[in-house]
Amino acid sequence: RISSATVHVLGRTQPNKELTHWPQAMMKQRLEGKVAIVTGAASGIGAETVRLFAEHGALIIAADVQDEQGQEVAASIGLEKVTYHHCDVRDEKQVEETVNFTLEKHGRLDILFSNAGILGSISGILELDLNDFDKTMATNVRGVAATIKHSARAMVDKNIRGSIICTTSVAAMIGGTGPHGYTTSKHALVGLVKTACSELGAYGIRVNSVSPFGVATPLTCRAFNAEPHQVEATSCSYANLKDVVLKARHIAEAVLFLASDDAIYVSGHNLVIDGGFTVVNHSYSTLLTPD
Ligand code: NAD
Repeated sequence: RISSATVHVLGRTQPNKELTHWPQAMMKQRLEGKVAIVTGAASGIGAETVRLFAEHGALIIAADVQDEQGQEVAASIGLEKVTYHHCDVRDEKQVEETVNFTLEKHGRLDILFSNAGILGSISGILELDLNDFDKTMATNVRGVAATIKHSARAMVDKNIRGSIICTTSVAAMIGGTGPHGYTTSKHALVGLVKTACSELGAYGIRVNSVSPFGVATPLTCRAFNAEPHQVEATSCSYANLKDVVLKARHIAEAVLFLASDDAIYVSGHNLVIDGGFTVVNHSYSTLLTPD
């Protein structure tokens, strides 16, 4: 035995599986020296990703419109690692100013996690409120386009081989899992990721997305007027992969992979985190399931 975090097995040093967490000092810092902007950072998936990025050595500008909550997230992680900055992604000037603020504070930008998004109101297509539809598109598509534009400019100007990750959804893959405006916006986002990838590859910048299945966050709890455990129970009842409850942390882990050099040749990819939900249809397997 050479330390509490490693064990000697058959002459090889391996992680000690009895330990559930590596001590911070021994953990591989996958974002050491990197500077990241995370939008929608005050809550849910964004806040969890800020936390994980910080654990991996990144300096983060946490951007959101919920100022008090965003400040709390930053303070709970450490103000030497995370700075909260107000940014409404629907306003291009605020997006540009947030990128400039990042460059002034840290001198570079390596990672954009463009995650801010809204669900919009839940209604049928026959009653579709087109103002609500426009609002969803303004945040989920136009807002993300603005963040890609200004972050990529900063990366190109400084010759940084950056990584851009956007949050889409299982609603980007199939219909019937979310409101019409939301589903349309997330499908569009997959197209935006592909077209940005096609241009930014020339500068060594990677552009990818993550598509989560249902996670209990303020977004889903509000939409279904339910407690987190109730949202999780509903998600689990529809899930293909059983015995795992999807958490914001699982999405953050996938974003970390795409942000880090572990994914150095991955670009234009939509990493679906749904336990197989969008690629299965159970009409055959139900025939095989015993009563
Ligand atoms: P959340 O509501 O907890 O977090 C979203 C954050 O985005 C909030 O802090 C909100 O203030 C911020 N935001 C909203 N509009 C903004 C704007 N105009 N400018 C800046 N910030 C803004 O929700 P979440 O579930 O963590 O959602 C994060 C992303 O994940 C969204 O894009 C959402 O569509 C996507 N997503 C969520 C789920 C899920 O089940 N929770 C599933 C698939 C995809």
